[in-house]
Amino acid sequence: MTTPRKVLILGAGVAGAILARRLSALPGLDVTCLERVAPDDHSEAGTGLNVGPNALKALRACDPALADEVSAQSLPWRSWRTSLSDGTLLFDLPLARVADNDGIRIRWSELYRILRQGAGAAIRYGCEVSAIGPDPRDPQRTRVAWTQNGEHQVLDGIDLLIGTDGRYSATRAAFSGLPEARHVGVAILRVLVEDRSGGLVDDYEQWFNRHHRLLAFRVPPGHIYIAGTYPIEAGAPIPEDWKTPEAMRRAFLPEGRAASPAVRWLVDALCAQAGEAHWARMQESEPRFAEPERQVLYLGDSAHGMAPTLGQGATQAMEDASCAALLIEAAVRDGQLAVRPWLAAIEAARHERIRFAMDLSVRATDTLLAGADPVAGARWKTEAPFIGELSQLFRDVALGERA
Ligand SMILES: Cc1cc2nc3c(=O)[nH]c(=O)nc-3n(C[C@H](O)[C@H](O)[C@H](O)COP(=O)(O)OP(=O)(O)OC[C@H]3O[C@@H](n4cnc5c(N)ncnc54)[C@H](O)[C@@H]3O)c2cc1C
Repeated sequence: MTTPRKVLILGAGVAGAILARRLSALPGLDVTCLERVAPDDHSEAGTGLNVGPNALKALRACDPALADEVSAQSLPWRSWRTSLSDGTLLFDLPLARVADNDGIRIRWSELYRILRQGAGAAIRYGCEVSAIGPDPRDPQRTRVAWTQNGEHQVLDGIDLLIGTDGRYSATRAAFSGLPEARHVGVAILRVLVEDRSGGLVDDYEQWFNRHHRLLAFRVPPGHIYIAGTYPIEAGAPIPEDWKTPEAMRRAFLPEGRAASPAVRWLVDALCAQAGEAHWARMQESEPRFAEPERQVLYLGDSAHGMAPTLGQGATQAMEDASCAALLIEAAVRDGQLAVRPWLAAIEAARHERIRFAMDLSVRATDTLLAGADPVAGARWKTEAPFIGELSQLFRDVALGERA
């Protein structure tokens, strides 16, 4: 009988929880998944997410029951409307034109809850990792040490270490260093507010005031997610005086014209929560899926940072995890337990796809840059080349040949 392959998944966020559920059900693998936070700690997931149709398509191919559960707890994402802040409509794109299925709108904490619950006892919570490195006895394999409930534990001889530990991946830092951030030149603030809009806001919509963009959509239960953007010099710190209600009104309300009722409501709601807003600078980073010398795989944000303009961060993390699960399941089913070919297959399936999603996300950011004209920026997004690329993004999920 072959010894089971030891798999350690580090981080049970979007990608890690999907993988923990799938891989822990496979005979032939001995899976450990370590998560830093407690099961009900969602302090780092306080906003809403629009998750692209491609994520649901990929998840459904890999795990239909989990895809059903996620969809049941979400609202459908069916259209992308773009207007000026006075309400002038620039375009209204039904996603059915560019996708085979709906996307979803969901609270980030709710997505974590469903995915983590789906993995059940496969995830160990409250784990503080203290060391990640090569196994001294075997250069291909790795070793991880952690503390859980005050007890120090070590796993060595790990056949496959999967870093699904997000943007500041300790796994990636341990083996190849954290990738350098490429700043896109846009600062973004995000809040989740109670829905008291009286129906003014529902599906995914954007409103431009020159190069400032508000984006909002409703998420269950009873909340509205709002994001606003400011152009910023690439890499510069976000000025503190942008974080005041006065600065937000200047940025998002039209000058000399009335704002649309939705924009008026959103700006009031944003200003009321100004102190709670999550601020970040849009950035991307060089993708890397596998270490060349060791059996280490990266998926989701640890493999690639991407500009959030098309809502592809969690979306591609779901595609990555679905692809990896399907390819590993197929290999194990066929008795192919050598790990290096798994890594090669996942990298081959995902690399170009991720480069494409990253590139399209940056190009779609044009309307958020300093001095941008939202009308011209909206126009090219209604033309055949962009519609074709969006359709490729939402339809052509890359799950690998054996999947
Ligand atoms: C405010 C905000 C809004 C966003 N909106 C969208 C959106 O609308 N649509 C979209 O698709 N994407 C969105 N994103 C991006 C999306 O959230 C991420 O791309 C996605 O969560 C990445 O998934 P992941 O599985 O790679 O990592 P994560 O979901 O970040 O999960 C990483 C996990 O690893 C754990 N972890 C980290 N370090 C360790 C460690 N040392 N030991 C143990 N565990 C560890 C973390 O606790 C976490 O559970 C948004 C991001 C932000 C910040």
